[in-house]
Amino acid sequence: MDSNNREALAERLRFYREMGIYDLYRRPVDQSALGTVETGESLESAEPESSMPKKLNVLQDRPAALKNIREDIGDCTRCKLHQQGRKQIVFGVGNPDAELMFVGEGPGADEDEQGEPFVGRAGQLLNNMIGAMGLKREEVYIANVVKCRPPGNRTPERDECDTCGPFLMRQIAVVKPKVVVALGAVAAKTLLGVNDSMANLRGRFYEFSPMLPKNAPERDPAWQSTKLAVTYHPAYLLRDPRQKKEAWKDLQMVMGELGLKGGKA
Ligand code: SF4
Repeated sequence: MDSNNREALAERLRFYREMGIYDLYRRPVDQSALGTVETGESLESAEPESSMPKKLNVLQDRPAALKNIREDIGDCTRCKLHQQGRKQIVFGVGNPDAELMFVGEGPGADEDEQGEPFVGRAGQLLNNMIGAMGLKREEVYIANVVKCRPPGNRTPERDECDTCGPFLMRQIAVVKPKVVVALGAVAAKTLLGVNDSMANLRGRFYEFSPMLPKNAPERDPAWQSTKLAVTYHPAYLLRDPRQKKEAWKDLQMVMGELGLKGGKA
């Protein structure tokens, strides 16, 4: 291997390590996938000249870029949630070109069963909230901080959020929504990197730039940041419906930003 290839390979491996990807294997290059960055591609093909078209395509083809992130997650064992009863990884769902993205904390029993975020009772309430804003569920993008169900629906722990969080950051960087709504304290604290009460975190927009690893393929020089709002998690609203009117105020703030007039509640 010549020195240019060796250097490109070292840089690629550094990037994967930053993403928490340690296990690499070889598989034949899928010609139809050229233009996306494949974790398992032949490492000897990691030439510097090939990096530009790959990066451009990752930025332009959002479904392929999301698929690429899902493939990077693989059958993940990076944090302890992989061995605490998860049935499957719950990646994310919705419109890859969405202007609005919701981020929750982690899958519950229904989500673990169906492989899709927010499909249980809390999901039904989220659907109603989205409808009240004048949108359909398919028009937004929905993901969680951790992709595996915490046992007994416990709150994801800090190390679990830190390990899984980079995949969420990459999802946000692909979708490039105009507004991200963090649902609940875990999402808010993970995305904003602050430790504050919901009362203090709500009621305003934050300028949010997803923290991406250096050389992440999703890094787009033309898109630096988005607005982020914080509101209550739908599961919390089911437990304390009195807070629904406060959540509605948060959503109205988001609707104002997106020019939405609202729909049927
Ligand atoms: Fe991997 Fe995230 Fe699941 Fe942990 S929660 S095992 S980091 S996919």
